[in-house]
Amino acid sequence: MVNIKYLGSCREVGRSAILIESKNGDQCMLDYGVRFNEEDRLPFESNLSKLKAVALTHCHIDHSGAIPFLYKKKKNLPLLTNSVTIDIIDKLINDMLRISKYAYPFGYHELNQMVNNAYFLNNGVRHKIAHNFYLTFYDAGHVPGSVSILVDVDGKKILYSGDMNSNNTNLVNSADSSQIPEIHAAIIESTYSLRKHPPRDELEKEFVEEVINITENGGNVLVPAFGVARSQEAVMILDKYQFKGNIYLDGMAKLITKIYLNHPNTLKNKNYFRNALKKAKFVEGFKKKKDYLKNNSVIVSPSGMLKGGSVLKYIKPILNDHQSAIFMVGYQVEGTPGRNLLENKVFEFKESNKQRNTNYDLNIKAKCRIKHFDFSSHSDGKGLHSYVDNLKFVNNGKQVFCVHGDPQSTTTLAKELVNKKYNSVAPELGEVYSV
Ligand SMILES: [Zn+2]
Ligand SMILES: [Zn+2]
Repeated sequence: MVNIKYLGSCREVGRSAILIESKNGDQCMLDYGVRFNEEDRLPFESNLSKLKAVALTHCHIDHSGAIPFLYKKKKNLPLLTNSVTIDIIDKLINDMLRISKYAYPFGYHELNQMVNNAYFLNNGVRHKIAHNFYLTFYDAGHVPGSVSILVDVDGKKILYSGDMNSNNTNLVNSADSSQIPEIHAAIIESTYSLRKHPPRDELEKEFVEEVINITENGGNVLVPAFGVARSQEAVMILDKYQFKGNIYLDGMAKLITKIYLNHPNTLKNKNYFRNALKKAKFVEGFKKKKDYLKNNSVIVSPSGMLKGGSVLKYIKPILNDHQSAIFMVGYQVEGTPGRNLLENKVFEFKESNKQRNTNYDLNIKAKCRIKHFDFSSHSDGKGLHSYVDNLKFVNNGKQVFCVHGDPQSTTTLAKELVNKKYNSVAPELGEVYSV
């Protein structure tokens, strides 16, 4: 019997952590992330005395942020990942430790150990981690470098989708579950199982048309976007539909763009990426910010939900200008300043943080246009269903675990799959299932 222990991302988005245990007790951790909304930020505790490796699906902190903690006990634990992902998590976890008020039970020392123990796997190539215990990566279509992981242990094949997108974006190719061999069980993300994304092409066109409309009429457009993938996707969309105005990139988005340029093979089309991103100018230095707002520009800058970051440098004059706009391009979590701005047209933000060198106390009623364009990097309900339906199960076993979604999204997806004759559940924290 192979055991799957659910140590996180159970009926929630955050602290993804799934432990696979072989017959003789050998262990492999799939993702080991953090969550931000609760006091308990790390995955559920478990005995990890026979941990042979940790394998990472992608760079986002909810999947990677707690990995350094594993190095407290095991100095030379192999981290199985790829080169673009390690470069990004090094920066993201560093940033997380630097600006956090929360005292993480690990620090830069463990982060360095993690980086020094990284091994790179090519997609589609089987890698042995212990006796009868193998891992294979497959493209997950979520962000550059993202993978789904096939675990082959004691003859049982378990697929962990990680965050996954079966729709094409401009940055990466979509996930394709038909490439994956026959499996015994699947662990599937459920983030947007209750949603239906609008047709991508129409959304992209509408976004660029509205940007052109604002900038040609004397306004500026501020695009708060995640530094990882979404900022670059926004620039590529502007280029695709021939936006000819000025585009500026700021904050973490610049750093991640440089990392992508160093790993061109993780991109769907490296030439298209290079050409599009060449047209965006990197904001260097703080003094000149007024210049960027003078010349009918688009400024793409983190953070995506307006919880901080370089976007705050521009927000006041934009909010106070009737001719300008703020276009949000990612999901806005409830309780964030971005969600509040979208729903109530008010920007409220308070932060006094020495590490970030910030002192904000803002409460501004927006005079500018506010709009949401959700360029999602996850499959919606229909996409998740077709992904699962394309999987091939040994003996028609059809065992599917639904994780990485709020309670409603995970349990509804599991119920829908049960109705389609799958053996499906949304595991709860700490539960163990045998395959
Ligand atoms: Zn993700
Ligand atoms: Zn995630």
